[in-house]
Amino acid sequence: MVHSKVVIIGSGPAAHTAAIYLSRAELSPVLYEGMLANGTAAGGQLTTTTDVENFPGFPDGVGGQELMEKMRKQSERFGTEIITETISKLDLSQRPFKMWTEWNDAPGSEPARTADAVIIATGANARRLNLPGEETYWQNGISACAVCDGAVPIFRNKPLYVIGGGDSAAEEAMFLAKYGSSVTVLVRRDKLRASKVMAERLLAHPKCNVRFNTVATEVIGENKPNGLMTHLRVKSTVDDKEEIVDANGLFYAVGHDPANGLIKEQVKLDEDGYIVTQPGTSYTSIEGVFACGDVQDKRYRQAITSAGTGCIAALDAEKFIAEAGEAQPTVETNDGYKTNPAL
Ligand code: FAD
Ligand code: NDP
Repeated sequence: MVHSKVVIIGSGPAAHTAAIYLSRAELSPVLYEGMLANGTAAGGQLTTTTDVENFPGFPDGVGGQELMEKMRKQSERFGTEIITETISKLDLSQRPFKMWTEWNDAPGSEPARTADAVIIATGANARRLNLPGEETYWQNGISACAVCDGAVPIFRNKPLYVIGGGDSAAEEAMFLAKYGSSVTVLVRRDKLRASKVMAERLLAHPKCNVRFNTVATEVIGENKPNGLMTHLRVKSTVDDKEEIVDANGLFYAVGHDPANGLIKEQVKLDEDGYIVTQPGTSYTSIEGVFACGDVQDKRYRQAITSAGTGCIAALDAEKFIAEAGEAQPTVETNDGYKTNPAL
């Protein structure tokens, strides 16, 4: 079993920013980047997109994959040890914390590693609807992030649709109204879930239209490689009446699933499953466990905000390690693992 001062779990902008700071601080961080963890390649959500145009430092935009490769290289340059394995089990009940990888996590197996501090940067996944045509037109008209993709030319002065009735749907629709000729929000029930203030703002918006009791059933578009979506089939949930509407953009705002599987019974989560952090910090409910990125942020969910919180987590972890002292290597005893009393 190997011991590290600090382990980072995740591989998106939050994880790599934390790794860059911690390796420059000579804390020899170890980063588990995952092997298709949560169905996403190492590098996280940005590996599933094309151009990223709102990450500072790239005036001409940068490919999502390329941006993550650059971050990974920067982490390695300062000495981060990157391990391409998924952490499948974490024991945060005492320090040093213990972790197992999916290669060897059978009951009774020895942990792969122990650590004095752990940074959780496992991210989140935007929910999809699996509509017919979704796979074909994903990123060719369909997106799960209006703030990320709304400004691209294919949406300019075109009819756009948003699915969802929460605050994200309201916020995204009003954002998209700057670009599209109109924005229609499809709400499956007869009311919005969004907060009163957001709902009122959406309903009063001159370029937004809300269609209650309506769901999308199919995405239709150009029949050629990289063809764009052009229409949407929608259905009334009241009388099942179907209709095909012009639609050049479709934005999903049906919620996200934070990747909390590792810690959900150990760390305090909010009612939607996001890790609760002390405002302005990355502190979780367990001392020595820090969280950053989308797994603790249901409001902003951007690469740059993830990177920002990754920096916060690194600085918090560095301070924690300095104040708590270095843990002795763990020793297995009859009653568990003996930890450094200084921690
Ligand atoms: P994520 O990017 O969610 O990555 C976390 C990764 O950690 C996982 O994907 C997985 O590989 C790894 N992991 C998870 N669990 C484990 C485990 N147990 N063990 C080891 N590894 C694990 N934002 C922008 O600012 N601009 C954009 O243009 C933009 N475009 C986007 C386009 C799309 C299609 C999507 C889906 C998102 C987009 N975003 C964009 C949002 C942005 O990608 C996210 O806000 C950001 O990636 C979140 O970063 P994160 O560090 O929290 O983790
Ligand atoms: P929510 O879970 O609040 O809303 C998801 C919406 O999607 C609901 O209206 C839901 O419908 C709908 N939906 C879910 N599945 C489907 C489906 N299969 N087909 C059609 N519609 C579907 O997610 P949000 O991302 O909007 O918000 C998450 C959290 O973040 C909330 O706490 C929110 O307040 C907060 N937030 C706050 C913001 C702000 O204050 N400005 C901005 C963004 C988010 P139904 O209602 O029928 O379940």
